[in-house]
Amino acid sequence: MIQLFLPLNFLGFVYREIRRALTDLENMLGLLNKKPHIADTPASQLLTLSKGEVSFNNVSFSYDANRPILNNVSFSVKPGTKVAIVGASGAGKSSLARLLYRFYEVSSGSITIDKQPINTVTLHSLRQAIAIVPQDTVLFNTSIRENIAYGRPTASEAEIDQAIAMAHLTAFINSLDKGDKTLVGERGLKVSGGEKQRIAIARAILKKSPILIFDEATSALDSHAEQAILTAMRAVTQNHTSIVIAHRLSTIIDADNILVLHKGELLEQGTHSELLALNGQYAQMWQLQQEQAKNT
Ligand code: ATP
Repeated sequence: MIQLFLPLNFLGFVYREIRRALTDLENMLGLLNKKPHIADTPASQLLTLSKGEVSFNNVSFSYDANRPILNNVSFSVKPGTKVAIVGASGAGKSSLARLLYRFYEVSSGSITIDKQPINTVTLHSLRQAIAIVPQDTVLFNTSIRENIAYGRPTASEAEIDQAIAMAHLTAFINSLDKGDKTLVGERGLKVSGGEKQRIAIARAILKKSPILIFDEATSALDSHAEQAILTAMRAVTQNHTSIVIAHRLSTIIDADNILVLHKGELLEQGTHSELLALNGQYAQMWQLQQEQAKNT
């Protein structure tokens, strides 16, 4: 009996896996169908970068018509400066980043880089100009080194080593038996959220784009991991036009400008000390996070 049971059980498993894969595929195709078609036109120009200034001009946006996400948002990121975006979950922070990378089209208003509207330039030249460190990085089933080199496949070995050092990955890599040849990803070593984000930082360093978007991970990190990311992030944002989406205000007190987004609108902006003096929403968020930090 057991001789029959095992193969049948296995067949059942295979059947369920195939069903699941097909459902995933359907969901993915469904999502792709819903996305607006974003592509170059014959009139698209190459983006001409001078200093890497980013401007949002009266930008409004919604994923679907009945639910506005951003309302009339305007701000500029001067070349080489760091702007932080803060606000409650769902305020629209990551949506701003997705619009800049042109995963979606603005509903009204415009986004420019060095005065060129991003919808008039080729997608390739736009995306070459921007490096993204996402909240949750996808790792491929290959070595750590190859995962990093993916940031710029033509990078030299020395450049990869330098990116590893700047992203504070050296000690982690040295602690592994196979060093940077260790396999990661779903079928390899499981790396922590903090290590994953530093791999993404190393990729961004290699990409050498003048504009950087850093989407801070929401997951709680221990203070050692947070410090390592912070140091790595400071190294990569230096001399870049940077947009940092932050959840922990302690990580962005040095930003040149902090934007407080509330339900898709820009509520306050200024430096950390200016916003504390304003005694508005930022000051409240700061107070709350300070108290939480004391209690942990
Ligand atoms: P968090 O701090 O939690 O990352 P956020 O401020 O970055 O939040 P967004 O990710 O920009 O917020 O999302 C803003 C709103 O848009 C949310 O209400 C979210 O549910 C909605 N939203 C995000 N992505 C999509 C999508 N692909 N389709 C439809 N709605 C979406």
